Amino acid sequence: MSKRVTCQCGYKMPGSGAKGYYYYVCPGTFNLDAAHQCNLPRFRSDRVDDVIWQWVRGFFDDEKLVERGVAEYQARQAEIKKPLGEELALINETIKERKKELADNQRALKLLGDDPPQRTLANTLEDIRRVEAQLDGLEEQKRQVEAKIENAETTERDIRAAIDRMEQVKAEIEEGLNLADVNFEDRRFLIERLNVEITLRVENGEKIVEARCYLDDKKLSMGVWANFAREGFLLGMGVERG
Ligand SMILES: [Zn+2]
Repeated sequence: MSKRVTCQCGYKMPGSGAKGYYYYVCPGTFNLDAAHQCNLPRFRSDRVDDVIWQWVRGFFDDEKLVERGVAEYQARQAEIKKPLGEELALINETIKERKKELADNQRALKLLGDDPPQRTLANTLEDIRRVEAQLDGLEEQKRQVEAKIENAETTERDIRAAIDRMEQVKAEIEEGLNLADVNFEDRRFLIERLNVEITLRVENGEKIVEARCYLDDKKLSMGVWANFAREGFLLGMGVERG
């Protein structure tokens, strides 16, 4: 989960272990070399992970939310993919034209024979070099557009895989499995495929987990902690509680 956690200040928050508990800690709170300093208190990772899992498992019982999420996602993807498809078609068309031009130039070069006029030879060679350079550029553009399309399709496969896994787990639940028992592997699978990302912040003394994924986004409260200030103080002193 820790690769998916960002602080309100923008830093990635790696998990860090103390005796007993693990925490998400912003590097800006302890690393004096950090580009900027930050005062976000640490968040206990088991509590954050739990809140996130409660949110994700809510999708299991909310078919409407999942359907709406998928539909909205697909609409966004279609908007991304349509111009990419058009761009790719245009590039392919231009590549075809340039290849024909190259073949014509090469034929012209051959027709010049063994003892061609120097200026004509130089011009023909220059034409060939120019078209070859254009073709190199076009091939590179084509690779980039294809990579973007592939990326969009991978995401669609991920969402599909997540929904299939949800269906599977749901079927197991109907056979008597407790939702709380959903194993670690299944949880991780869903969190990865749905691309869950979270931002940790404090608003009015309340610890907030901002969660988003392909299907939904939501602000989740971790509640106000009585020892909130003390936690920050102890962290500042480098003292770890049990
Ligand atoms: Zn921070």
